[in-house]
Amino acid sequence: PARKRFGQHFLHDPAIIGRIIDHIAPAETDHLVEIGPGRGALTEPLLDRCPRLDVIEIDRDLAPALQQRFGGQSGFTLHEADALRFDYTSLGGDPPLRLVGNLPYNISSPLLFALLASPAPIGDMHFMLQKEVVDRMVAEPGEGDYGRLSVAVASRARAERLMTIGPGAFQPPPKVESAIVRVRPRVPDFAIDCQRDFDRVLQAAFSARRKTIRNGLKGLLDRSAIIDAGVDPGQRPEQLTPAEFAALANRFTGETA
Ligand code: SAM
Repeated sequence: PARKRFGQHFLHDPAIIGRIIDHIAPAETDHLVEIGPGRGALTEPLLDRCPRLDVIEIDRDLAPALQQRFGGQSGFTLHEADALRFDYTSLGGDPPLRLVGNLPYNISSPLLFALLASPAPIGDMHFMLQKEVVDRMVAEPGEGDYGRLSVAVASRARAERLMTIGPGAFQPPPKVESAIVRVRPRVPDFAIDCQRDFDRVLQAAFSARRKTIRNGLKGLLDRSAIIDAGVDPGQRPEQLTPAEFAALANRFTGETA
């Protein structure tokens, strides 16, 4: 039976699985890493196209069947481990890793940020997440879903939603809609002097969405510092671009706040 605490919802719709694999488009020379292979619904078609595949599965009860089914293929390696604590640099980085996973939704945000902060060379990631989370990840300034997650992702990567998937594609069906997101890490075209200051500004700004940026940042930055950063103090946080948040954060680096 599926284990709730590991967020187990297994894909069983072959048409959907085929579309996901087409989006990933694994190449023979890639190095793939699958997080949470479960019963191998994605593992098998991934291995068909790309022989070099490391999988990370936390559930010890699933590991023997995975090893039995795929262990005979020379490029396959099973890691019985927690993807949140896994050392991705141990996998090498040439070619850059391509990460794939139908993730347990309770670990998706911490895992995403751990991966974006990891020194391991990551080419791209294709993850199945709650649709609502993907909507927030890909939202642009001015859109209703635009918020802290959108800015945090945009400052480290480019994210695109590729397809949405209803609960019926899974066994057991989850309560929510899912979506596949493609995330390509990249260095943004603006500077962030201090990541902690940037995160602090985002947290303060978006904890008061209805407030102007001037009111939201009270105690952190005064009106003239906001203007010096090139931002209109009367704007609301959901109107500011990631570059503007960086400019705000860079103002208070080194200042007392
Ligand atoms: N990939 C399979 C599929 O699509 O049918 C299974 C997807 S299921 C939503 C999530 C999988 O991630 C389960 O196999 C679960 O045991 C595994 N998992 C949960 N937490 C994990 C963690 N921290 N590290 C690695 N795997 C984890």
